Amino acid sequence: MGFLDKLFARKEDKAASAEEPPAEVECSHAAVIARWDSAADMGKPELVSAYVCEACHATLSREEGAVFVAAAAERLRVSEEGRQDRMRH
Ligand SMILES: [Zn+2]
Repeated sequence: MGFLDKLFARKEDKAASAEEPPAEVECSHAAVIARWDSAADMGKPELVSAYVCEACHATLSREEGAVFVAAAAERLRVSEEGRQDRMRH
């Protein structure tokens, strides 16, 4: 390998690493789970103290988490409808 080849190869490496995504990739919080402060409150949606994302472990407030829970439920509903639709045809 000549000097220019080495130089070029090194340049390519640099370009490739520059294209890598940043360390902090935005998480879609697709798998948020509810957390309750008191075990006695568990299972009661109105008493959820916080939501935690299983993917990135971010803690979300009840208001924030509810948005992602609703979005996940909607995705599930849509995919279920699509499955049933395919079965009918
Ligand atoms: Zn997340």
